[in-house]
Amino acid sequence: MRVFNFSAGPAVLPETVLRQAAAEMLDWHGSGMSVMEMSHRGKEFIAIAAKAEADLRTLLAIPASYKVLFLQGGAIGENAIVPMNLLGGRTGIDFVNTGEWSKKSIKEAKKYAKVSVAASAEDRNFTYVPPQSTWKLDPGAAYVHVCTNETIGGVEYQWTPDTGDVPLVADMSSHILSRPIDVARYGVIYGGAQKNIGPAGLTIVIVRDDLLDRALPITPSAFHWKEQAEADSMLNTPPTYAIYIAGLVFEWLLQKGGVAAVERDNVAKAKLLYDYLDASGFYTNPVQPEDRSRMNVPFKLADEKLDDAFLKGAKERGMVQLKGHRSVGGMRASIYNAMPVEGVQALVAYMKDFERERG
Ligand SMILES: *Cc1c(COP(=O)(O)O)cnc(C)c1O
Repeated sequence: MRVFNFSAGPAVLPETVLRQAAAEMLDWHGSGMSVMEMSHRGKEFIAIAAKAEADLRTLLAIPASYKVLFLQGGAIGENAIVPMNLLGGRTGIDFVNTGEWSKKSIKEAKKYAKVSVAASAEDRNFTYVPPQSTWKLDPGAAYVHVCTNETIGGVEYQWTPDTGDVPLVADMSSHILSRPIDVARYGVIYGGAQKNIGPAGLTIVIVRDDLLDRALPITPSAFHWKEQAEADSMLNTPPTYAIYIAGLVFEWLLQKGGVAAVERDNVAKAKLLYDYLDASGFYTNPVQPEDRSRMNVPFKLADEKLDDAFLKGAKERGMVQLKGHRSVGGMRASIYNAMPVEGVQALVAYMKDFERERG
């Protein structure tokens, strides 16, 4: 029996995708092989990767002037790979610090660049997105870095920053494909796949063509965006099976009507949970309402001594991985694209029962 899996990542995948992958496991489309066994340079896998890229471009309406790269290293890897690729000729980077993942990006970038924090939400314990009017941007910066969905704190940008001529770089790991975005407003978008796309091991980078000639000479070839773009992300062996599964997820999203349709579902799912949290005197979410994440919903019980009982009862009802990140405690429900509305309904019903019995 499948559970409702609220993990922040690696996270739930659409059941239909898993079933299709299972059916194709031993023999992909008459090739007599699993996708895992294919040469990345063979015509079968090249077709799989090309279809995945084309579908991703359709889903996000990615302009032709952007490259799509399928790499390895994860978003933490990209935290170092981004500065190596964009610092050519410049020394400073502006960061907006909205929480744990911003802090990790800053830490990594400091190894390569002069880092300036243009705005920070630390003063209110990372419960909001600092409005752009408060950002102190340096017009000479190599780029401005934001994390548009803080997976741990549950804070999400509901607007797109405007950084003028300075490229905007966004870590979108935990909400990419959850809503339409205007790619043209960004210089670079990156994310690990294991939150809202597919298996761990695949990193997606969407980069504007004119930013491909800024890499530092020390940049490793496997992480050099221009070299990878010229090699169709096959300068080294790409994470082939993860690309295949991501491709199936892209097809699933297109069948659902694309990201605009998926966004409507995500808004409805998040509203169910937040409305209940706000009505309840027992559970609380600390994030400023207009900056709340639709994907990751942290919440606390009135008495943390009840946390273990809450998690145990949830498990008995087939709901798992609700424990909050160790740095903030409490609970966290990650409700990515692949979490059905029934999962959120079951969670809210359980929370009500728990509040009535133990609150
Ligand atoms: C999970 C996550 C990361 C880290 O991803 P790795 O694949 O572990 O490197 C970075 N940024 C955000 C926003 C995340 O959610």
